[in-house]
Amino acid sequence: MSQIQLGAIDVFRRFRAAIAALTVVALSLVACASSGVNKGDFNLVSYEEEWQLGSQLERDIDRQMQVLNDPAANAYVSRVGQRLVAQSELAQAPWGFHIVADPQLNAFNIPGGHVYVHTGLICAADNVAEFAGVMAHEISHGVARHGTEQLSKAYGANIVAGLLLGGSPPIYQQVLAQVVATGTFAKFSRDAEREADHLGVIYMYNAGYDPHGMVTMFQELIERRQRQPGSVESFFASHPLTEERIANVRAQIDQLPPRQNLVLRDAEYQDLQRRVSRYCGT
Ligand SMILES: [Zn+2]
Repeated sequence: MSQIQLGAIDVFRRFRAAIAALTVVALSLVACASSGVNKGDFNLVSYEEEWQLGSQLERDIDRQMQVLNDPAANAYVSRVGQRLVAQSELAQAPWGFHIVADPQLNAFNIPGGHVYVHTGLICAADNVAEFAGVMAHEISHGVARHGTEQLSKAYGANIVAGLLLGGSPPIYQQVLAQVVATGTFAKFSRDAEREADHLGVIYMYNAGYDPHGMVTMFQELIERRQRQPGSVESFFASHPLTEERIANVRAQIDQLPPRQNLVLRDAEYQDLQRRVSRYCGT
């Protein structure tokens, strides 16, 4: 080991002594950063800052949106989420999975490993594989850090001061207000969508969920757009969804080695749907 590395470790030890808890998270995240998913991507927000931002947003979203507090429903959604996250490059990070009581077919990711799924989407997904398809896609936006990449592009060098200086800096307020009002964090590019689909299929397959669920869920969303455009407005505003994306996902699935016993349905998913059904609209 070189002297430079030893020096860095020494500094790191002192840092760890200062903020032990945060550093445990940062350490695992730094280890993950070398996995390749975000290599070379433009991002001015560090992992540590991103997770700090996520915690702050989570607290404020909890106050300002109708986040469901049903322990059994939350536990199941978290279980599906964790099973997918365990396949990802950020398996060791503290993720959070939340249900929003809202009839829209929507789901979104905010920085710092938080995924929100609306009750309307839970009711519309036919089975756990379709639900896992949306969850895997949102988790992938988080793993690939598309949210903070977007913020970095939009706000440049002011971004960290504008988000994290304590108090309520204006950029933070703007970001929070948008999430609360629209159920979207950012409008992602086609490239970001492609990456989230691609990673999502891998996480699903490795977690043992049938990745065709992502295909049929996307088809359902496109059909809803014809029948009931208002019910999927937020989803389409943040995730440009096209037939081309569906074709790409199918082609990727076709390349995967056959695997027995991929989960399509489970009884607990129907139980989740019953639990949230009063928030699903007509
Ligand atoms: Zn997306």
